[in-house]
Amino acid sequence: MTYDVAIIGAGFGGSLMALILQRLGLNPVLIDRASHPRFAIGESATPIGDLIWARLTEQYDLPRLRPLAEYGSWQRSYPQLPCGLKRGFSYFLHRPGQRYVPSARHQDEMLVAASHGVDDADTHWYRADYDAFIANEAQREGVAYFDHTQLTELQGGNVWKLTGTRLGQPISFAARFVIDASGERGFLARHLGLTNHVAQMQTNSRPLFAHFRDVPAWGMLQGFDAAHPDAHPFADHPYPCDDAVLHHQFDGGWMWVIPFNNGITSVGFALDQRMFPLDETVSPAEEWRSLLRRYPSIGDHLRDARICGPGEHLIRGGRMQRWLSPAAGHNWALLPTAATFLDPLHSTGNAHTLSGIERLAGVFAGHVGSWDAPQFHAELQAYDATLQAESQLLDRVIHGCFLALGDMELFGAMSAFYFVAAIWAEHRRRSGLWQPQDAFLGANDPEWVGIVETSYSELVELTLSGPFDRDTKQHFIARVRQRIAPYNLAGLCDPGRRNLYPYP
Ligand SMILES: Cc1cc2nc3c(=O)[nH]c(=O)nc-3n(C[C@H](O)[C@H](O)[C@H](O)COP(=O)(O)OP(=O)(O)OC[C@H]3O[C@@H](n4cnc5c(N)ncnc54)[C@H](O)[C@@H]3O)c2cc1C
Repeated sequence: MTYDVAIIGAGFGGSLMALILQRLGLNPVLIDRASHPRFAIGESATPIGDLIWARLTEQYDLPRLRPLAEYGSWQRSYPQLPCGLKRGFSYFLHRPGQRYVPSARHQDEMLVAASHGVDDADTHWYRADYDAFIANEAQREGVAYFDHTQLTELQGGNVWKLTGTRLGQPISFAARFVIDASGERGFLARHLGLTNHVAQMQTNSRPLFAHFRDVPAWGMLQGFDAAHPDAHPFADHPYPCDDAVLHHQFDGGWMWVIPFNNGITSVGFALDQRMFPLDETVSPAEEWRSLLRRYPSIGDHLRDARICGPGEHLIRGGRMQRWLSPAAGHNWALLPTAATFLDPLHSTGNAHTLSGIERLAGVFAGHVGSWDAPQFHAELQAYDATLQAESQLLDRVIHGCFLALGDMELFGAMSAFYFVAAIWAEHRRRSGLWQPQDAFLGANDPEWVGIVETSYSELVELTLSGPFDRDTKQHFIARVRQRIAPYNLAGLCDPGRRNLYPYP
């Protein structure tokens, strides 16, 4: 079985990559160790990811996938495919032993809208069915697809030979190029001995999560009644706070709450290991209960929740971060999630994956039939260099946000580095200013990277050098506000907005 490109991993990333390569006239093969539908985490989309999705499906003639770029078109085209409505990013700050109290000043919350309304809204992907749908589309379009395939060996260089077993029978594939879309399992990392630079990353968090039923709306628990909205502080919200990725945050960690329209809600903690080191003597269930006791309003939110997947128990992992280098070489490349991952905070993973697919597809599109050309390899090197720069920038932004999780004013300032860059990139795409060399979140814009680096260093100094006074903090926030001003389309960090940001 000889193919142009072997793609290892049939998550949405691998399947979309395969479809695009097939549209370019190549002969890809999609190989997965598991079979669909299967559980996968990583469910919340973002507007920048939606825009990339829309562009890829238009450019590479995939009209059946185009409706998935927005909530409205998704619901009209595929109402049977489970989905969640995501109008924005909602953050609520909790303190140990204290119940959350909504306030008209919104000082312990932040809402950043990601759409103007329901029709153009973002989505949450129920990954078991979503990934199955995209893999089915690949098969429907004639992409060769092998599930249940355990690859054990990789040999080669000019032509790769992949060998393993499928349902107990030996199997082998030959391919000119290998793309690793295996996510955290890192197929090429293991077989090519790539270096993991995770020790250089400052973000150090671990997950504790599951899928649940019977998770009520947070707004309702806080006494918000949509029928009589004026009497409640949540009436000011730019969108209903539960139509979002809802973040419960506290010093040293945060929880995501991602509701789907099939009655299932994805819920999980991301915990800073410096403050919540993994203690194997405490079971995941005990740790979960202890966190819910520590933050009573989070406890209220999850009081009746019942685990419904992927098994009967919580999943607890070790450090989530990875940073592999290089991410591309002679006739091979890693998709972003196989190369790097930080933390689910701000849902950067799927959009990052899509931006990597877009860039890699561009490299292939320019060189069909000319893979020996030096330019092809030069462009693969550029793909790698961009991914490395993105990993570095993401680490600064996410770790900065972790340092600020316990203080909503500081968090507002540090999270602005994500929102400002994302909204700026969305604006560039919508205005036709996007360039193929644009990196994710401005990671190749030296001026922007300089702003992030300087502000991150100042935050580290502020937060790690002991208690700081209010003036010192306000001066830092004022400097951030001034630095981001040229890019700040949504007015992030503007005290007049009282932490509520409509979509610009
Ligand atoms: C706890 C957590 C929460 C997250 N939340 C979000 C979020 O809300 N929003 C967001 O944007 N991102 C999130 N992410 C990131 C998100 O998971 C990734 O962006 C996304 O899964 C990448 O998709 P993918 O198709 O590239 O890889 P994956 O989804 O990881 O798919 C990999 C596929 O490869 C297969 N595979 C693995 N090893 C092999 C092998 N050796 N041989 C063959 N097949 C193999 C697997 O079976 C799987 O089908 C989260 C990540 C984590 C860890």
